Amino acid sequence: MTTDATTTNRLSLTTKIMLGMVLGVIVGLIANQIDSTFVNEQIVGGLFAMIGTMFVNALKMLVVPLVIFSLLTGVMGIGDVRALGRVGGKSFALYILTTAIAIAVAIGIALVVGPGKGFVMEGIDTSGITAAEAPSVWEVFANIVPGNPVAAFTNGDMLQIIFYVIVVGIAAVMLGEQSAKFVEACEYMNELMMKVVGIVMHFAPYGVFCLIAKTFAEQGVELFLPVLAYVVTLVGSLFLHLFVTLMIILKLFSGLNPVQFLRKIRPAQIFAFSTASSNATIPVTMRAVTERMGVDNSVASFTVPFGATINMDGTAIMQGVATVFLANVYGIDLGVGGYLTVIAMAVLASIGTAGVPGVGLVMLTMVLTQVGLPIEGIAIILGVDRLMDMIRTAVNITGDAVVSVIVAKSEAKMDLSVYDDPNAGEVEALTIDHEAEAALAARASRAHPAE
Ligand code: ASP
Repeated sequence: MTTDATTTNRLSLTTKIMLGMVLGVIVGLIANQIDSTFVNEQIVGGLFAMIGTMFVNALKMLVVPLVIFSLLTGVMGIGDVRALGRVGGKSFALYILTTAIAIAVAIGIALVVGPGKGFVMEGIDTSGITAAEAPSVWEVFANIVPGNPVAAFTNGDMLQIIFYVIVVGIAAVMLGEQSAKFVEACEYMNELMMKVVGIVMHFAPYGVFCLIAKTFAEQGVELFLPVLAYVVTLVGSLFLHLFVTLMIILKLFSGLNPVQFLRKIRPAQIFAFSTASSNATIPVTMRAVTERMGVDNSVASFTVPFGATINMDGTAIMQGVATVFLANVYGIDLGVGGYLTVIAMAVLASIGTAGVPGVGLVMLTMVLTQVGLPIEGIAIILGVDRLMDMIRTAVNITGDAVVSVIVAKSEAKMDLSVYDDPNAGEVEALTIDHEAEAALAARASRAHPAE
């Protein structure tokens, strides 16, 4: 009886999140057509913005503590530095490989479709666009070691956090028996944080609805028309990577069923789509790969935050398509050398960029400068970038999950029965265990007896 009730509840949450998304699109597009200050300022810019921000903040508040405790638990769980090195090496290689394939295919498609040919640039404000500095590879690597770990935690600098936590985890393993209590405490904290993720997920349908409604209310469809060819080529390339390339890679390297994968990653994709931030989606991606797909925490706790930071297939695709588009707009032929440079730069940009909204476009300036295209061209695609950002972020986190699954499978750190179970890891209903609650209260009153 209880199980049945819970199952119904579980199913309805995933459905509710999807419903939130669809309703968000509809309400947003309607709001976009309504010319009312009240709707614009109080509903869209007020209520929707407030709930949306609260929801994104709630996700972000989980990221650092979740990464710390799950990674600590993971490292201490592996307990073997060599295995850890293998997981790190494999995931790094796969992240680079998938990003390079993504952008190479995207450039190929864009060259065939040829968006931007005959584009007439009119009334586009090109002021205020400045080029991003290309980070040197040496700098990127040097900055992985945090001079001040507390600053790394407060800034949410994922690579530095990962580095620091791994070192502490290894030290704890080296201390052996002495660390027993610490290991237990971290395991408990990890469980606790996962529970908090579950609580936040319950508000997801409303958060997703507000975020999406706000974006569509502000974006309007008219924005797309002038750059329709760019949008269509980009979205086509993103979908191709998501549904074909990544799924072939998954099947090839892990032998697992891609359809099952796509079903299970869907909630995380919706979160990525609504927030346009791989970083904010970390808790949900982590939950999807561990509880829904059966990847062991010892692998996921490393691969997911690492991927959210360095692996951006969708962003690289956008940069490839945008470069071809702008080269066509300006009538410049980049040649094979130019496009190879774009591939290399986009892969580097992918590593050096944080998974936060809009940053891919900033990094595009770096790619454009490198091949001698005018960065003012970005103004042309600026208007549609938010929506493109949402889609590419969903692709970004899917790439993270694919690599997590492949690495876990190859390390025999995967529970295949969870992967095969269609209902595994659905968010549980928000129930309070009253017996446990009473036990806690009794313990508290024993500790502080009433005077
Ligand atoms: N928003 C993307 C992400 O968080 C990065 C970008 O392309 O702007 O993954």
